[in-house]
Amino acid sequence: MIQLLPLGGADEVGASCFYLNIDGTGIILDSGIHPQKKGLDSLPSFEFIEELPVDFVFISHAHQDHIGSLPFLIKKFPHLIIYTTIQTKEIAELTLHNAANILSESTTLWNEGINKNSNFIPYSHEEIDLLISSIRTVEYNEPVDIEGIRHSGSSKIKVEFYDAGHILGSAGILITYGNVKIFYTGDINLSKQKIMDGADLPEDNINILLTETTYGDTDSKMLSNWQNEQKRFAKEANKILNKGGSILIPVFALGKTQEILAAIHSLVAKGSLTDTIIYTGGLGNQISRVYDKNKYIVKRQNKNFEFSEIEQTDLYSVNELNLFNKKSGIVLASSGMMIKGTKSFELMKYWIKQQDFAIFIVGYMDPETPGYRILNLNKGDKIFLNDKDEIIRCEVKRFYFPSHSKREEIVDIVKKLKPEKVVLIHGEEKAKNWVGQQILSLGNNTKLYSAQKGKLIRLQT
Ligand SMILES: [Zn+2]
Ligand SMILES: [Zn+2]
Repeated sequence: MIQLLPLGGADEVGASCFYLNIDGTGIILDSGIHPQKKGLDSLPSFEFIEELPVDFVFISHAHQDHIGSLPFLIKKFPHLIIYTTIQTKEIAELTLHNAANILSESTTLWNEGINKNSNFIPYSHEEIDLLISSIRTVEYNEPVDIEGIRHSGSSKIKVEFYDAGHILGSAGILITYGNVKIFYTGDINLSKQKIMDGADLPEDNINILLTETTYGDTDSKMLSNWQNEQKRFAKEANKILNKGGSILIPVFALGKTQEILAAIHSLVAKGSLTDTIIYTGGLGNQISRVYDKNKYIVKRQNKNFEFSEIEQTDLYSVNELNLFNKKSGIVLASSGMMIKGTKSFELMKYWIKQQDFAIFIVGYMDPETPGYRILNLNKGDKIFLNDKDEIIRCEVKRFYFPSHSKREEIVDIVKKLKPEKVVLIHGEEKAKNWVGQQILSLGNNTKLYSAQKGKLIRLQT
């Protein structure tokens, strides 16, 4: 018997969490948090599995929408055995402590959750330390055998991680049980980025595929390729820098910061981009050090390059914002979607008032975020901020440096792995529809499921 119960991240990007019951062994794939939601609403629906066997949790990568609720999950099921890659464990130690800081700082934010339901208890740094030390690590392509305490089948379950090419440590997860192979993509990128080298896939055909569909509703012509987009980036950046303006790039601390920083560094080295001050700081810098530490261990491009070689000024040492008017520079600040209360949101409020400045959007924007609103506005448009309308005086430019597969590449995964059943996850409805249509048009009689939170899928009886 194989059943899948989505607990979160089924038809959206956020709070990814999927429960698999394989003949009595309970496996949880990812335990994310929804970055825009508050309190209990931001967590996957763990209550659905209270009465079910729960033995293992496998984490595909350290982005918050895949790992952020792990401390809450472990509070609820302390006996769970956690597996992930060495790199994800190293990054998680930084990001989960950082999240614990944000939790304790933004008490008002979390109080809303606590008031709504008193079950919501934030976690401490000590709990994170304990959790991290309990994580078991796996190498890519080195399978582990697992079996839950209530396992009723005759064979063990084999789990193997494949490099997903998305960020450092990211993995697609292959679960083999008897002659059934299930592959969970996590967040996957088949194409190269500046640092990441593209995903590996299992060699053999599989039976069941759980695939992300993040870019299912994005025309791939827009996504262009990294090489061309870097040229356009340099051209637009030079226009701003040469007139003395500064550029704000909202980025995720994990992944996007490193990819963009590496791209900027190589453009300056080639003489394509004006040499300027680069501001970074906080969690992004700590994560860059983990990238450096692992440069020979994982598959990546430019193995000899280190982030420590790039001269960077600490963004958190800047007290006077008019410094950016006196001397132009490029600022990489998180959060990536300019969520209220974060550094990039604070800087954006200053940036929009400056004629010669620019905001460069380089990543995915959730429709509910300030980043998404800015992205759809131009110089001269009004934006509602701080309880009033403000005119955007700076330039706003959109670039595409995707860390997820283009939608055709998701279909390529299906063509290569030839699954009999496909479950679409991690995407908006429209995105899942496009991918679903394409899979059906391959004419392979694939059984297609669109995952929905709380809706059980019987994959095998
Ligand atoms: Zn991710
Ligand atoms: Zn994700």
